[in-house]
Amino acid sequence: MPNKLVSKSGSCPLCRKPRVEEFKPFCSRGCRDRDLLSWFGEGYRVPVVQAPDGGMDGDRLEDQ
Ligand SMILES: [Zn+2]
Repeated sequence: MPNKLVSKSGSCPLCRKPRVEEFKPFCSRGCRDRDLLSWFGEGYRVPVVQAPDGGMDGDRLEDQ
């Protein structure tokens, strides 16, 4: 069977990596989840581990 589906757009819309059948049209679960989250809340940012803020200690001290 000819597989024309693959050549149509073979890369993840988020990071351009080759997509995976299981998570298509994305390359991984991470990209699929990220896309879902962006649909859920435009303008609302979920805290992400890869961007640590580092200002919590000061706030905590001032709070008490
Ligand atoms: Zn991706």
